[in-house]
Amino acid sequence: MPIAPTEKIWMNGDMVPWDRAQIHILTHSLHYGMGVFEGIRAYETANGPGIFRLTDHMRRLHESARIMGMPMPYSIEELTDAAKAVVVASGLPGCYIRPIAYYGYGEMGLNTLPCSVDVAIACWPWGAYLGDDALTKGVRMKISSWTRHDHNTMPPAAKTTGNYVNSSLAKVEALNAGYDEAIMLNPQGFVSECTGENIFVARHGKLITPPLSSGALEGVTQSTVTAIAKDHGFEVTVGTIARSDLYIADEAFVCGTAAEVSSISSVDDRAIVCPGPMTVAIGEEYHRTVRGEVDQYKDWVEHAE
Ligand code: PMP
Repeated sequence: MPIAPTEKIWMNGDMVPWDRAQIHILTHSLHYGMGVFEGIRAYETANGPGIFRLTDHMRRLHESARIMGMPMPYSIEELTDAAKAVVVASGLPGCYIRPIAYYGYGEMGLNTLPCSVDVAIACWPWGAYLGDDALTKGVRMKISSWTRHDHNTMPPAAKTTGNYVNSSLAKVEALNAGYDEAIMLNPQGFVSECTGENIFVARHGKLITPPLSSGALEGVTQSTVTAIAKDHGFEVTVGTIARSDLYIADEAFVCGTAAEVSSISSVDDRAIVCPGPMTVAIGEEYHRTVRGEVDQYKDWVEHAE
C-alpha cells in the first residue's frame, strides 16, 4: 500500500523532515533482519487524535527488544511522548504509527554486541488493511504452505523485522492463489495466527484463540477483543485449534491493529457464516472502543495533546 508522506519523523530524539529521514545502505538491520517494531493506530476523536493503547504497544516494543537481546535506548515514556509528538506534527486526525528500533550504521557481521541501536517513529494515513468492508463482507483465507517459525528458531513472541519474511512469503502465496490472507500453522500442525493478525474461531458458541505457545504474537487487539467479547457474555478460551476446526467453525475472524476486526468468509474455499453474529457485535464495539466512545475503555485512548 502506497505511503502518503507526513511532516516529520522522529529519529533518535530529533524531529526530522520526512524526506531527510534516511539511513545508510550499510545499516546493520537491513542486512540481518534484527530490528523490532510496532504498528499502532491513532483515531479521530472529539478531543483530537487518540492513540489506542499506545503504552501497551511501546511496552511490547521493549519486550521484543529484550527477547532479541537488544538494548533499548529510550524508556517507554520517552517513546510514548515521541509518538505523540509525531502525530501532532502530522496534523492528521487519525493515522498509523510505526516505531522501529534497529542496529545502525558502523558495524557489519552477525555480532550485534558492538552495534548502536537507533530508534525512529513515523506516521502516515493508512486505511483498513484488509479492505473497508472486511468486517461485513469478510476475507477469504488460505492455509499457508509455509510453517510459522517456532520459539527456538525465530522467537514469534517478539515483533522482529526478520520474522516477517515468513509472513510475507505466506501473504504473497495467498494473494497469488486468489485469496486475501493466509493462516499460519506451527511446526506441530496447529493454527498459530495469520500473517499480521491473530485469529478467533467460534465452535459450539464459544470463541477460541490460540495461545502464545502456538507461535502467535501476543496481540494488543486480541486482548481488546477478548475483553469486549466477555462484556457481551461470550465465552472466550485460549486453546489449541486444528485445521479442521476452521473448516467447521460457526464463525471466525481475524484481528490486529492494522486489520482491526475482519470476518472470515472462507478457509480453503470452505464457506463460513459471514459475518457471524459474535463477530459483528465485537467488531462494532471495537470500532467504538478505539474512538474513545466506550466509557469503560476510555483509558485505552491516549491523547496526543
Ligand atoms: N500477529 C502478527 C504476526 C502481527 O504482525 C500482528 C500485528 N502487530 C498481530 C498478530 C496483531 O497484533 P496487534 O493486535 O497488537 O496489532
